[in-house]
Amino acid sequence: MERYQLEDLEVIFDCAGRDDWGKFSFPVWYGIPVKLNWREYRYDFNLRGGLKRVSGGSRVWPDPQEALKRTDGNDLIYYGVHGYESTYDLIKNYYVPYNGIYESDLFEENPLQGPPVRQALENFDALAIELGRLAKEASCERPREFLRRVSAMNREALAAEAGKLRRIMGANLPILPPETIDVDYEVIPLILTEGCAYNCRFCLFKTAGDFRVRSPHNIAAQIRSLKDFYGDDLINYNSLMLGQNDALAAGEELLVNAAGMAYDILNLSASYHRGRPNLFMFGSVDSFLAASDSLLDRLDHLPYRTSINVGLESFDQEMLDRLGKPLQAERVREAFRKMQSINRSRANIAVSCNFVLGADLPFRHTEAIKVVLATETTARGKGAVYLSPLIGTSHRREILKEFREIKMSSPLPVYIYLAQRL
Ligand code: SF4
Repeated sequence: MERYQLEDLEVIFDCAGRDDWGKFSFPVWYGIPVKLNWREYRYDFNLRGGLKRVSGGSRVWPDPQEALKRTDGNDLIYYGVHGYESTYDLIKNYYVPYNGIYESDLFEENPLQGPPVRQALENFDALAIELGRLAKEASCERPREFLRRVSAMNREALAAEAGKLRRIMGANLPILPPETIDVDYEVIPLILTEGCAYNCRFCLFKTAGDFRVRSPHNIAAQIRSLKDFYGDDLINYNSLMLGQNDALAAGEELLVNAAGMAYDILNLSASYHRGRPNLFMFGSVDSFLAASDSLLDRLDHLPYRTSINVGLESFDQEMLDRLGKPLQAERVREAFRKMQSINRSRANIAVSCNFVLGADLPFRHTEAIKVVLATETTARGKGAVYLSPLIGTSHRREILKEFREIKMSSPLPVYIYLAQRL
């Protein structure tokens, strides 16, 4: 580590955090941020000079375990520890990420609206101004240069930078697969397909227009622009997210070539994070059932650990109809069987699935999930089942009760899916 003290500002470079995305019940940081400690607050920045994480001392911050994170899409996520028993069992994380975007009855309060967050951000505004002055007075090149960068990245500039990322993608990512919580949602987005073939009535994450596939030219241009965008901070990433909601339907050649090109150009093998880089994507029931052995072989042989998440929603036909999901229940069961088969046979591919959850859903829906999961005997520690509370229709106590009943009946890992976007 390299430390500098400039008046009441402490600057720390080369803060080597965890490189394994490990989960801990106490605060850790991942990757290599630059830390600035100023007036009771602790700010972490990415290597481009963008605000990444905030916490503070006991006089200004509610709990030393909790932190506020800023995403590359410029959303704020509050990582809280209060109000939940057994959070790891619930969401596979010791901290509950609250983004305030997708309201859910699972949360009892909105920590993003409280005075501690507001004051920490106001203090950041003051810090960005103060850094302009301190940068001029710094005698060493390294802090001088970095403080200049941070000073230029005030809240307005951070919002503009997120806009630039969306322009590179030419779209947004309204939802990330649930497994991205395993890398703290730190993914580089690459759009292969847009729109949803199903346009399910219940879904809040569908994207506009008919389903369409981007051209190889467009994908190559995105990858080159992403390399420039992430710049010095690329080293802090080892995960690629193929968007939007059904990248698995992009077609074998396009999918495999895009993943390979991104691996090379983004230099993912040189990431600070150890282990195989991650490749995340969603698949629909149809694209997943259509995935050929050839495609699966090639994905399995890529230098990634590939995670495919498939929205099954329900094994019950009446429930599928009610959700406005244009699928036959037998296709859903077939997809579930294929998921187990791939998880058993493919070393570098893990397939997970989602079902909806809500207090006012038909008894047959939850019973069918319990029965099918209970008969599954081939759990191998991968291929989790995620339960997504239907937004706006549920009640915390009932949801948690249903979740626990399903979890207890399942040999497969079961978690709640908390929606996050990029
Ligand atoms: S549930 Fe999935 S397939 Fe259906 S509209 Fe939403 S994102 Fe598309």
